[in-house]
Amino acid sequence: MFEENLFSYLEKTDPEIMETMRSELNRQQTTLELIASENFASRAVLAALSNPMQNKYAEGYPRRRYYRGCQFVDKAEDLARERAMELFGAEYANVQPHSGTQANITAYLSLIEPGSKIMGLSLSHGGHLSHGHPVNFSGLFFDVVHYEVDPETKVLNYDTLEKQAKDERPRLIVAGASAYPRFWDWERLRSICDSIGAFLMVDIAHIAGLIAAGVHPSPVPYADIVTSTTHKTLRGPRGGLILAPEKYAKAIDKYNFPGTQGGPFMHCIAAKAVCFKEAMSDEFKSYQKQVIANASRLASVMVEKGFDVVSGGTDNHLFLLDLSRQGLTGKETAKRLHKAGITVNKNTVPFDKESPFVTSGIRVGTPALTTRGMKEPEMDEVGDMMASVMNNIEDDSVIDVVRGRAEGLAKRFPLYE
Ligand SMILES: *Cc1c(COP(=O)(O)O)cnc(C)c1O
Repeated sequence: MFEENLFSYLEKTDPEIMETMRSELNRQQTTLELIASENFASRAVLAALSNPMQNKYAEGYPRRRYYRGCQFVDKAEDLARERAMELFGAEYANVQPHSGTQANITAYLSLIEPGSKIMGLSLSHGGHLSHGHPVNFSGLFFDVVHYEVDPETKVLNYDTLEKQAKDERPRLIVAGASAYPRFWDWERLRSICDSIGAFLMVDIAHIAGLIAAGVHPSPVPYADIVTSTTHKTLRGPRGGLILAPEKYAKAIDKYNFPGTQGGPFMHCIAAKAVCFKEAMSDEFKSYQKQVIANASRLASVMVEKGFDVVSGGTDNHLFLLDLSRQGLTGKETAKRLHKAGITVNKNTVPFDKESPFVTSGIRVGTPALTTRGMKEPEMDEVGDMMASVMNNIEDDSVIDVVRGRAEGLAKRFPLYE
């Protein structure tokens, strides 16, 4: 089986689904992917995802399962856990969360009771739904206050945050974001939490790969619990991860299973192990350096072309463009760029006057293009293409020209070929 091409079976069994997969692969190959939360996993990761461990029920943890026949999946989960601990320098890892959101559910419950007060970055200032948004479990189960970025600098002001924390006295502060382009001061957050007896939970879903490679400060020495996804900058399979000091191991194990999940996805855990191994390589470190170099180059190209980059630039893999001065909305801009073969997402900017469905901004990230091997000169081209579309938002002929250029650039940096 391992020597076979599994897709030839799929082709025979279900040509309709095979066709959607071919089209999706072609879309990925021929367009420029700038969605900051996306990446292209390696062939080894994709192979691990389609392995027979997907057939196995393994509720529980290695050597403490509720089912027999777990000796080999145990080995895979041990490898994943040990590699995650080594990669991030953590005392404990749980590799079972099905997603980043699931990891957060487990982490909150491991530290505090439902109904407790939590304080997280507002969604419209870069936070994530699972940091206390009213429509999410985190807003439904907890009493939430949100912190925001500074109105002038659009960067976190830790003095303001400290004052708010002292007034509100949350049981837990959640740090981390989906759309925040600057480094975090983990040490300062730890001391703020200590001053009010609160837990510090850090969600590194977006920046995990940068942290693993040592190009972004790590919260592991400071946080009570660190949560992550494995599919963003970390470039692994879709999934979640929890890191913590040993003292929280029992609680986290318990709240993940049986607390909030059933059987773990063992094929996905095997793929996480592959991802963590890849992330220990020198190639991965230089990849992450290039991700940041590319983001900062693309951000400066946009500034040179007269666009407003929120906070003036970036320290990480993404930046936000505030298009309000151009009179553009994020919704329309993302739609036109997509037509031109450039994929970004609309995003609220701090203090946005538009609704979250419309927005005044777009979020731009470089992990995926960097995986294809693109470097600074290609970022100059991408910036030029984006500016052309945005400066001629209603002009279909410009879209046609850029679409051709985008496809040409994509073809020069082949993906899965
Ligand atoms: C992406 C993200 C998540 C959620 O990940 P899913 O796997 O989509 O549930 C959680 N937190 C942050 C900060 C994220 O950016």
